[in-house]
Amino acid sequence: MDKKIIVAGAGHGGVAAAALLSKAGFDVTVYERLPEEKLGHDWFDAINPAVFKVVGCPHPEEVGIPWKWRADVTYFGPNTSDEHKIPQRFKKPQDIEIIMERRDIYRLLCGYAKECGVRFVYETTIKGPIVEKNRVTGISTDKGDFFADLIIDAAGLNSVLRTKLPDEMHIQKQILKNERIFTYRAFYDLPVDPNSVEDVFKVMFDPDPGEFSLSWIYTQEDYTDLLIGHIVPPTEEEIETIAETYRKTNPQLGKNRFRGGQTVPIPFRRPLSVLVADGYAAIGDAAFMTMPLNCSGMSVSIETAKILADAIIADETKTFSAETLWKYQYDFYHKIGKNMAPIALVKDMIISLRKEQIDYAFDRGIITRRELSITAYQHSIWEFLHFDPKLIVRGFRLLKDKELTKKACGVVADAVASFSHMGRLPKKYDRDKVVKWADKYDEIYTRRLSKLFPEQAE
Ligand SMILES: Cc1cc2nc3c(=O)[nH]c(=O)nc-3n(C[C@H](O)[C@H](O)[C@H](O)COP(=O)(O)OP(=O)(O)OC[C@H]3O[C@@H](n4cnc5c(N)ncnc54)[C@H](O)[C@@H]3O)c2cc1C
Repeated sequence: MDKKIIVAGAGHGGVAAAALLSKAGFDVTVYERLPEEKLGHDWFDAINPAVFKVVGCPHPEEVGIPWKWRADVTYFGPNTSDEHKIPQRFKKPQDIEIIMERRDIYRLLCGYAKECGVRFVYETTIKGPIVEKNRVTGISTDKGDFFADLIIDAAGLNSVLRTKLPDEMHIQKQILKNERIFTYRAFYDLPVDPNSVEDVFKVMFDPDPGEFSLSWIYTQEDYTDLLIGHIVPPTEEEIETIAETYRKTNPQLGKNRFRGGQTVPIPFRRPLSVLVADGYAAIGDAAFMTMPLNCSGMSVSIETAKILADAIIADETKTFSAETLWKYQYDFYHKIGKNMAPIALVKDMIISLRKEQIDYAFDRGIITRRELSITAYQHSIWEFLHFDPKLIVRGFRLLKDKELTKKACGVVADAVASFSHMGRLPKKYDRDKVVKWADKYDEIYTRRLSKLFPEQAE
């Protein structure tokens, strides 16, 4: 086949799609700004191992790449005592994620893609899309211009492609405050015996007043992993203050930082409303495909790679227009997006709560281990709905806090609105209908945000 595909940025979903497309006979090249050995962050991550199989990639075990099961999380509200902490519990063994060094995830995915025939061009910074007659025809880079029949945008949250597309394509460029979270991550020394640590993996809503902030302290065999997520980027000083506060009650968190230390934004919202244009398709963080509560993006984007590759392979016209690529958007929203997007509404509510309301929800059993066991693979709002004999008692306790009840009711109403709107996603591409659908979808979510954060709507 003589059709050329460029994957812009070595995002995980882009690399997985590249592998499948190359296997199907396309001529695929990935352009990436970093050198090969620097791909990925300097830490480990949790990923659902089932997604490797979805794209035909071997399990790390099969190729001798190290991995281990992730420990269960114990959740704490801002001032939760040991009595009210909530440990995670999984329904099925396959819901448990594995952890792997991010560089090893790349070693695995890129190794597989190379075996499938994908070419990688490293140390090449993309400056923007090349657009001719309202079609994306290539990428402009610091090493020159490169053209292809289709450009897959896998360049992450601040993609220089998505943010520079012509307005007529109706693809959202910038996102709002509260739609991304700035995440600091670093490894510190472990001054105590790890066996003495009761809750190995703690996720805590931070008690300090001010903007929403969440942290984790994950004790490993010989170091402690600290993550701090903030709606506004935390300064070095704020990070040190938070770490110092945690050290008082978490002796496992040492003072010597020896890895990581970066603060990186993650999408914290619904997926992009329009994923395709003529000659263009977005995937992964470039299309905001993170699970909106825990910000896992790799599993979803690798799973989505299969949906994207299938749609491209099914395009018998080989024109890769918005019209023929629409199958990708339709299938993504039907298989993943429609159930995952409303989780963003739950997230919006949580980040708008006052700290004492979060404590109240923990202490009075309004949230339970079931809700907090929603992991990367369970990317569906329906996971929240389940029978619980204590539901009525929990409901009464919720009703006692009128503001909390109002917020929860608003979220439920909008989740229903979002879900029913998904039923109106056009099956066939029609520009006017698509624009109308996308505007309404975005409006459901931005309206909720402006109700929860009226000061930002002004
Ligand atoms: C602290 C932290 C912890 C996380 N933990 C997890 C976790 O445990 N599990 C999980 O699933 N997810 C996790 N995530 C989220 C995860 O990193 C992303 O959702 C995931 O990487 C998917 O994004 P992506 O691959 O599409 O884009 P990215 O990972 O952002 O990759 C984009 C690629 O494009 C390249 N690029 C960007 N711009 C250009 C340019 N102009 N020219 C050339 N190349 C370019 C970048 O160098 C990069 O290689 C975490 C994120 C953070 C910050």
